[in-house]
Amino acid sequence: MIAEVIVDVPAATVDRPFDYLIPDMWQDLVVPGMRVEVPFGPRALLGVVIGTKESTELERIKPIIRLLDEEPTFTHELIELSGFLADTTLCYRATALLAMLPAALKVSYDKEVDAPQHAQWDRKRISQFPPETQKRILELAKNGALRLKPVVKEKKTAKRDKIVRLRDASIPLAANATKQHELRDFVRERTEVLWSEVLRTFDVTASVLTTLEKKGIVEVEEVEIGRDPYAHLTQDVFVPASLTSGQQQAVDAITADEQASTFLLHGVTGSGKTEVYLESIHSVLERGRQAILLVPEISLTPMMVKRFKKRFGERVAVMHSGLSLGEKYDEWRKIAEGAVDVVVGARSAIFAPLTDIGLIILDEEHETTYKQEENPRYQTRDVAAWRAAYHGAPVVLGSATPLLETYARAMKGVYRYLPLKERFGGELPPVDIVDMRKELASGNRTPFSRPLIEAIKQRIDKGEQTVLLLNRRGYTTFVLCRDCGETLQCPHCAVNLTYHQHGDRLKCHYCGFEAAMPKTCPNCSSKKIRQFGTGTQKIEEELAHLIPEARIIRMDQDTTSRKGAHETLLDRFERGEGNILLGTQMIAKGLDFPNVTLVGVLAADATLGIPDFRASERTFQLITQVSGRAGRGQLAGQSIVQTYNPEHYVIQTAKRHDFEAFYKREMQLRKLGGHPPFWFLALITLSSESPLEAESEGRLIAGELGVLEDESVVVNGPFPAPLARLKNQYRYQVIVKHKGQRDVHDALKRVLADRIKQKVQVAVDVNPFVFM
Ligand code: ADP
Ligand code: ZN
Ligand code: ZN
Repeated sequence: MIAEVIVDVPAATVDRPFDYLIPDMWQDLVVPGMRVEVPFGPRALLGVVIGTKESTELERIKPIIRLLDEEPTFTHELIELSGFLADTTLCYRATALLAMLPAALKVSYDKEVDAPQHAQWDRKRISQFPPETQKRILELAKNGALRLKPVVKEKKTAKRDKIVRLRDASIPLAANATKQHELRDFVRERTEVLWSEVLRTFDVTASVLTTLEKKGIVEVEEVEIGRDPYAHLTQDVFVPASLTSGQQQAVDAITADEQASTFLLHGVTGSGKTEVYLESIHSVLERGRQAILLVPEISLTPMMVKRFKKRFGERVAVMHSGLSLGEKYDEWRKIAEGAVDVVVGARSAIFAPLTDIGLIILDEEHETTYKQEENPRYQTRDVAAWRAAYHGAPVVLGSATPLLETYARAMKGVYRYLPLKERFGGELPPVDIVDMRKELASGNRTPFSRPLIEAIKQRIDKGEQTVLLLNRRGYTTFVLCRDCGETLQCPHCAVNLTYHQHGDRLKCHYCGFEAAMPKTCPNCSSKKIRQFGTGTQKIEEELAHLIPEARIIRMDQDTTSRKGAHETLLDRFERGEGNILLGTQMIAKGLDFPNVTLVGVLAADATLGIPDFRASERTFQLITQVSGRAGRGQLAGQSIVQTYNPEHYVIQTAKRHDFEAFYKREMQLRKLGGHPPFWFLALITLSSESPLEAESEGRLIAGELGVLEDESVVVNGPFPAPLARLKNQYRYQVIVKHKGQRDVHDALKRVLADRIKQKVQVAVDVNPFVFM
């Protein structure tokens, strides 16, 4: 038998299945979807079997080296999906397949030493040795004194435990071996017990266990067990809400769907979209099917998880970036084994290996995190639609501020429209606009307007809470020399370094470069080099100065970098340990604290100026979403938005909660500007250490694509990317605007396939979402 294998080499020339011989002993074992280790040139690589057949046209084929799975890792559906991804996002099949795996099932490549004459190294993996030894071994290998054999190494780190079972309690033990007696008696009582439980119960070492095992009193079996990162969450009893008529209509429409429709659930903040999700999923489970609920990474707060665990208990897997490699793998395995019916997770959970999907939901569908910005550059919505069609299931896109594209489709009837126009049990908070130009003119030089400070003080007096959003773009601190005007830039990227008070250090938020804050200007040696701009910590200090009685909890990159810090800070706020939660974008969504009655937005317009045609839309979303955190409980809320552009239509429509007016205005501007959803875009990014090479390659590509130009295809560029230099690479871009023709897609595919020039990297994004 022959296996058709996609090999883990992301390159155009090998982007196809290769034939490998299945050795006799594995004839019946190898099935499509399994990961295997295969020889490829001089290397051994990971491969995925996508088919088997009886014969091949090839004369000489190599055998598979090793099976990495006992059961297929990829279902038939996911193998097919990888083909769809490769075709629509223009990525390699291998890249598409690997993107679906939890990191633990991806592999790294290592070399095994083959040198019987060096017993201390022989048959060991080179990566285990200290760098000095590795160097030595490599030298010897180069001289031919020993051999290195490439191997595939799994990252899998399943948590292991031991089952201890009683075999024969009558075998005698020394009278003074108290620990042995203790352990034997414990096991006898239970007949079977987990070693981890023994360790939790009493003080005993592994050597005691080994002794009992050797004597034949117990037997020990090693097992892989699942970790439950949410085990500490209390499992309250769930009481189902009685739905409002709007919620019930939405649930009815979704659960009655038989056409695999896409729904837009357009519900204002606090309208109870989550209740609609819970009920719809419940009904899907009743029918014996499964569901995926996707949320933006940022709203995967313990609060949200708790709500789901409470409703669906053990049958939920939760997947997000805060989990360790092993925890992620455990969740994935539970899904693959069919132990789970509901998957809640961020973007990549769309690839969860469920086999009978009855519903897929994308909460906050407008979020940028639903677009993957590296290969495969997919929009989660498209993958959801594909999987839903495969299973005959509906897709629900939920948001208070849907993307213009989504809303336009709903208005055209392509999507089914489900509005929830009212808040559950309350009103949307009034949004008051404060003109910061007037504040400045009347002598207020602080970042806080007087109405905002007054309002915060009132809340503190009444024992209510305030959420303050610092629009991240307005709050970074860079370093400037007062004498020569030099700003400190990242040596690898065309961006200013950000000053972090914690540790007195400078960091690049794009490449991770870090340095100590210099004492003098590197350009003119002046001592007048200092941080400039307003950081979140500075804002906190000013606020503490203006309102000395405030207890402030600050959430930003610095205070949330530790694992679990996010959770701890929110818990403290929920318990009322702070009366102000001050933070960047990470506090804008998902929070549902009934005691928050005031929201303040500082520098609301900082995002209006970003060089992206979606700048207005993102600002409208931000103001609406964060204002939506106020007044969600019994108490009425208020939102205060500070701006230098009070007349701007984004600010005005957000003030009136008027999505429709915003939509109409913005659609006109998009039409005039020739932007989506009226046109499709494709973005080609060229990066190289040499700016000249990048630009000339861009010119070449623009020329090739230029032959397609007519009234429905426009090619622009090359021009320097908004982020003109990143990680030492100069970046140029070419933008193609078109009306969705297949020949444009084919031409872009050729652009990628033809590039073999090593010096310039070419990336094509057929649906660019964030420009950088
Ligand atoms: P959204 O996701 O639309 O912002 P949520 O689903 O978080 O709104 O609902 C807002 C608040 O109203 C939550 O505290 C939720 O428990 C409550 N709520 C919504 N619908 C109901 C209902 N039918 N019965 C009781 N409480 C509800
Ligand atoms: Zn200087
Ligand atoms: Zn950098």
